[in-house]
Amino acid sequence: MRRTRIIGTIGPASNNEETLEALVNAGLNVARLNYSHGNLEQKTELINKLRKVESKFGNPVGILADLPGPKLRLGTMEKEILLSKNSLVKLYCGMEKLNDDIKLIENSTAEAIFNIPVSYGGLSKDLAEGDAILIADGTVRLNVLKSPNKENDIVNCEVVEPGLVSSRKGVNVPGTLVSLPSVGEKDLISIKHALENNVDFIAVSYVRNANDLQPAIHAIKEAGKFTPLIAKIEHPAAIENFDEILEMCNGIMVARGDLGVEIPYEEVPLVQEKLIAKTLERGLPVIVATQVLESMTHSPVPTRAEVTDIANAIRQGTSALMLSGETASGDYPLEAVQTMSKVCAHVEQGLESIHSSPALSKYRATRAVAHAGVTLSKEENVAMLLVASQNGNAARLVSAYRPKCPITVFTNKMETMRKNTLLWGVDSILVEEEERSRSTILNAIRILYENGKILPNDVLVSVSGSPKAISGATNTVRMFKLDSNGNVIKDE
Ligand code: PEP
Repeated sequence: MRRTRIIGTIGPASNNEETLEALVNAGLNVARLNYSHGNLEQKTELINKLRKVESKFGNPVGILADLPGPKLRLGTMEKEILLSKNSLVKLYCGMEKLNDDIKLIENSTAEAIFNIPVSYGGLSKDLAEGDAILIADGTVRLNVLKSPNKENDIVNCEVVEPGLVSSRKGVNVPGTLVSLPSVGEKDLISIKHALENNVDFIAVSYVRNANDLQPAIHAIKEAGKFTPLIAKIEHPAAIENFDEILEMCNGIMVARGDLGVEIPYEEVPLVQEKLIAKTLERGLPVIVATQVLESMTHSPVPTRAEVTDIANAIRQGTSALMLSGETASGDYPLEAVQTMSKVCAHVEQGLESIHSSPALSKYRATRAVAHAGVTLSKEENVAMLLVASQNGNAARLVSAYRPKCPITVFTNKMETMRKNTLLWGVDSILVEEEERSRSTILNAIRILYENGKILPNDVLVSVSGSPKAISGATNTVRMFKLDSNGNVIKDE
């Protein structure tokens, strides 16, 4: 049984029903929709396809809407081009696409000049001579030769690190504070769409401080929803302001692609470790993202270094690992999820335990009961921890202690089942809420037994509310023993 959750970005390589079905079958827990690409109609279509696949399997599939944020991007280009070392690049800021009278490659007698559009017009104002510009996750580096210091103008650059660039590739300008809000107009439109379509998580890009989360928090509240908000940590300011960000969000993503461009890449491993540890202290889920199985974009097998990277993230206690281009546009989306699932399951088996204590989490009474349940599960050879959870808090806090035995959450809300898809080690089942807590738990036990999830003579621990198991405040820990026919014979 795999405990680490798998998130896969859905894109042209995977947005058909057949592939989605195969990915879910292979263990995909959460589908990430990248709102930086495509239009809203395509997103609606994709969400409908995902819900259809989910209903076929009966298992929840979480949907994560990843907002574009103030990420700078190249505009639309008619083809991929190779920027050669020392060649001249003219960035046409404020242009989504080059005007008809400007050629992508100008062939002067000596050397080619590359004319590239950049959507954000303010970039030509924010940049100064000598600034570095990194494109495509830092694989291409330019040096600013001349900047006009005014909006919607041309910035002249020289290619320092050559490489391939294409439409809508990300642009980073480390050290330059780009004057764009974290949640802008496009993000608000995306949030509205995501909420109307009942996505399960919303990720805010380029968060720099807790204030950056406010527009998204406000939009969720306005819509009368409780959609968990994931703060993407990809800017140096977010590392500095991490504690206040943790106060305001429901989980974080270590967005290593942009992070490793915004800070020196050698700093990423230690930052990742620190961010995971701090997030676990709050009892919140954490996602490690980007380049996790990068080589599998074009190869059916991973590199040994990638496999070891996965192992390290698991040891550090990550809740989930995320695939990006591997599943969105790669040649082997299915193999990437299968590989991820296999590696996670194997590495987890070799781990004695993951030490985790959500000492700084909110909902302290629920946390105390969750702790008691997990402690009891260690005393005897407990086969499964059962958790009644209405909104996912009890589930999250039991998971936060990283118990050794499997966790099954029983809930009467499909929404909660989907929210749980991001929680380490948590499976969910849907049950009816009975008047008395014990009856609901016994019903959950019966369903699990009938589905072969628990076995004769198993010992189980439950964490629930009372007098009602699911909607009552989490206040009760119980222990159940099954006989050789799966009947509950002992109940403490
Ligand atoms: C990242 O930078 O690692 C990331 C996940 O964000 P994006 O997909 O926006 O690049």
